[in-house]
Amino acid sequence: MHTTILDHVKQGQTMTVENIVSLLTFPEVDSLYQAANECRHNNMGDDIYLRGIIEFSNICIKNCNYCGIRGSNTEIVPYRIPDKDILNTCQKMVDWGYTSVVLQSGEDPFYTTEKLAKLIMVIKETTPLAITLSVGERDEEAYRIWKKAGMDRYLLRFETSDPKLFKACHPDDDLFVRLECLETLRNKGIQVGSGFLIGLPNETLEQLAHDILFCTQLNLDMIGIGPFIAHPNTPFADQPNSFNSDIFYKTIAILRLLNPLAHIPATTAFDAIDPNGRDLVLQRGANVFMPNATPMAYREHYQLYPGKPCITESSDDCAGCVKGRIKRLGRTLGNDAGHSFKNPLR
Ligand code: SAH
Ligand code: SF4
Repeated sequence: MHTTILDHVKQGQTMTVENIVSLLTFPEVDSLYQAANECRHNNMGDDIYLRGIIEFSNICIKNCNYCGIRGSNTEIVPYRIPDKDILNTCQKMVDWGYTSVVLQSGEDPFYTTEKLAKLIMVIKETTPLAITLSVGERDEEAYRIWKKAGMDRYLLRFETSDPKLFKACHPDDDLFVRLECLETLRNKGIQVGSGFLIGLPNETLEQLAHDILFCTQLNLDMIGIGPFIAHPNTPFADQPNSFNSDIFYKTIAILRLLNPLAHIPATTAFDAIDPNGRDLVLQRGANVFMPNATPMAYREHYQLYPGKPCITESSDDCAGCVKGRIKRLGRTLGNDAGHSFKNPLR
C-alpha cells in the first residue's frame, strides 16, 4: 500500500489528503528519503545555494501566538541594525561566496516602503547579490516599488492552510489577506517563497497533509517550512509540537517529490530540534542553505524560538562552517544567484 503510493508520487500522479497521510505514516522511511534525495539530485543538481540572512530588526507590531519577537513580549531587547552595517555585511557575503541576501525583520513600520527601496537599490549598486525580502504583509504598492528597486524574491509563509488554525495563531491576521499578498507578489513577477509551520498546537496529520498539498498547488519558486518550537514568552509556551521529528523530515521529503523544481532550504529551526537537523534535511530533499549573517551583537535578540543555533558564533564562523558542511555532504557550492528553476528568465 505505502510502496504503491510512493511509486505514484514518484510518477507525478495526483495525491489526495489520504495518500499524503499514508506517506506521513510510511514505515520504510529510508526508501522515502532516498526517493526525495534522488529527486533533488535529478532536478536541482548537487549545488547548494547559500542565501545569507540578515535579521535587521526584531521590532514587530504583530502578535503571532508562537513567535518569540511578538510585539507583546516585553523581555525583548529591541534593535535595528544601521544601514551601513547591513551594507557592510552584504559586502562580506560576496567574499564568503554567498550569492543572495535575505533581509528579514519583524513587521516594523519604521522601515517604510521608501527606506527599504533605498536599501535595496544601494545593495544592488554595490554587490552582485540577489535580494530576498521577508518583512511580512505589505501593500501592493510596496511590493511594486521594491521590485522596481531591484528586489528579486519575497518570502512570506502562509503558516497553515487551515483558516481556523490560522486564526488561533494570528490574532492580527487573516489567511485570505496573506494569500492575496502571495498572489500579488507572483503577479508582479517576483519570485515567491512560502511555506508553513509543522506541528502547530493541536494540528492533525490531515491538516498537515492539506498544507503539503496546498503548498504544492501554489506552485512556489521556493518552499520554506520548519517545525513549530514553543517559545517561553508566548501564549503557546506550554504547547508541545503536535508531531515527532520523523514527521518533520518526512514532510520535507514529500514536498520535494511533489515539487521537483522548487528551491527548498534547510531552515534553521531544524537545527534547533536536532544538532544534525539541517544536514539531514539537505539529504532528504533540500538544496538551499541560509547561513546566519546577522552581526553577532544582535543575534541573541532575534530568537523567534528557543534553541536557535549559531547565536554565539560570528558571521565569519558561519561562513567557514557552511563550506565544511557542503564538503561533508559531498555536494557542491552554487556559484550563480540560484534564481527560480521554474522560470529561469525571471
Ligand atoms: N515577520 C516576518 C518575518 C519574520 S518571522 C513574517 O512573519 O513573515 C519568520 C518566520 O519565523 C515565520 O514565518 C514563522 O514561520 C517562523 N517562526 C516564528 N516563531 C516560530 C516558532 N516559535 N517556531 C518555529 N518557527 C517560528
Ligand atoms: Fe512578527 Fe513575523 Fe513574529 Fe508574526 S512571525 S510576530 S509577524 S516577526
